[in-house]
Amino acid sequence: MSKQVPLFIDGQFVQSESERWIPVTNPATQEVIAQVPCATDAEMERAIASAAKAFETWKETPVSERARLMLRYQALLKEHHDEIATILSEETGKTFEDAKGDVFRGIEVVEHACNIATLSMGETMENVARKIDSYSYTQPLGVCVGITPFNFPAMIPLWMFPMAIACGNTFILKPSEQDPNTPTRLAELFVEAGAPEGVLQVVHGSKEQVDTLLTHPETQAISFVGSVAVGEYIYKTGTDHLKRVQAFAGAKNHMVVMPDAQKNQMINNLVGASAGAAGQRCMAISVAVFVGESREWIPEIQEALSKVRPGAWNDPEAAYGPQINPQAKDRILSFIEAGKKEGAECLLDGSNCKVEGYPDGNWVGPTLFRGVTTDMSIYKEEIFGPVLCCIEVDTLEEAIALVNDNPYGNGTSIFTASGAAARKYQHEIKVGQVGINVPVPVPLPFFSFTGWRKSFYGDQHAYGKQAVKFYTETKTVTARWFEDDISTGANMTINLK
Ligand code: NAD
Repeated sequence: MSKQVPLFIDGQFVQSESERWIPVTNPATQEVIAQVPCATDAEMERAIASAAKAFETWKETPVSERARLMLRYQALLKEHHDEIATILSEETGKTFEDAKGDVFRGIEVVEHACNIATLSMGETMENVARKIDSYSYTQPLGVCVGITPFNFPAMIPLWMFPMAIACGNTFILKPSEQDPNTPTRLAELFVEAGAPEGVLQVVHGSKEQVDTLLTHPETQAISFVGSVAVGEYIYKTGTDHLKRVQAFAGAKNHMVVMPDAQKNQMINNLVGASAGAAGQRCMAISVAVFVGESREWIPEIQEALSKVRPGAWNDPEAAYGPQINPQAKDRILSFIEAGKKEGAECLLDGSNCKVEGYPDGNWVGPTLFRGVTTDMSIYKEEIFGPVLCCIEVDTLEEAIALVNDNPYGNGTSIFTASGAAARKYQHEIKVGQVGINVPVPVPLPFFSFTGWRKSFYGDQHAYGKQAVKFYTETKTVTARWFEDDISTGANMTINLK
């Protein structure tokens, strides 16, 4: 019997009493490495009740104490960086270096959370009327919830619970059922850092458990990252139950290639951004838009991509790993077939990819289509695999119109030597993250990260700089001060009438 992933409820790692368990597999071998439970209704209730109880004391904990918890957590995450990356690469199939990057991006958010005092400070104004001052401060919401996807099992949980908890909330994490060992290790280290009981809970499962969290009267705010269909559902259901919801969803990211781009730099970046992490990144480039003569570089891109070799998590030479599961692989292969049927020219077909020693892995090789049009399914849908679609246009204006017509708006980039072209692109493009000669422009946590259009549902209180807004309420006090108080020797008195 493989290892059973515990639930983390009320400060204890406990064995679930569930009768429903989901196997967690190594995607390069199909070996079952663990079983993850679908938490029972009673276990969900216990987790929610414990988080609600812990909130009563955690919200009164001084801000410097909350910040110190994050400092200790940051140090532990750094100390265990390689160990977490090893767990992560085995269950996701990511290369070790990529797994380390996943953890590191999360550590950066914890570092950001260490600044919680400065980040959550309010504002004051004297004499808003004669002898009346106003000031505002932030207060935590209560029990917050995070529902996370498989593709960044360290970074995305760490986007959420450290900021929410640093703000004074308690948190229930429902990580992806496909790679739950990484978030479990994150929770263990949080306990080691000194997190009080009940401040963080980790429950497992899928739709049923998520529905409980979305509809329970005790939960206040829901953060979700995942696919578009589920993101829409989470946003609709959560807001129907009057929760605060931020839902980061899918993407179709374009790179615009201008004829004056630095060719070799562009090709290296495009290859990494489209095939890296097996295309399983919400910021992966899946469409390259060639303006004018830059289309002449497509054969060189084909050649560069043909040399990219996937491999197992323990192969230091591998460029990227397998798809997360056989269903994801089959879905990608059916898109490749559809692309051919719809009339795109398949310059490189990764459908029959084999990796020596790993016959059962979910391998898909780098795939390149030319002559793609906007009505084709390979253009319209998020494929979430190492498949790059090439589109050719004559002008930058056409490229901008094409990107803005696509329903998604997560990330985009332009490669050019022209400041004027870059400025025009950054100004006119309707996308949340823009890279100029940078292929995957993921901002650091002290900036905002948020998709536009179908890539994000919510009111933009997103990750990073804006997270404090999402995880707190602002209270504004207007106070009249009486001069009499001075003569009576009293301290300042707030008259709330
Ligand atoms: P997913 O939507 O299948 O799953 C995400 C989470 O939702 C998981 O915890 C899962 O258990 C839960 N879930 C699944 N089906 C559900 C349902 N019917 N009802 C309620 N909950 C449900 O996503 P995934 O396959 O794990 O992740 C890949 C997707 O995530 C891609 O679309 C990718 O673009 C997106 N993503 C977006 C961002 C971003 O910042 N915009 C970042 C990373 C990943």
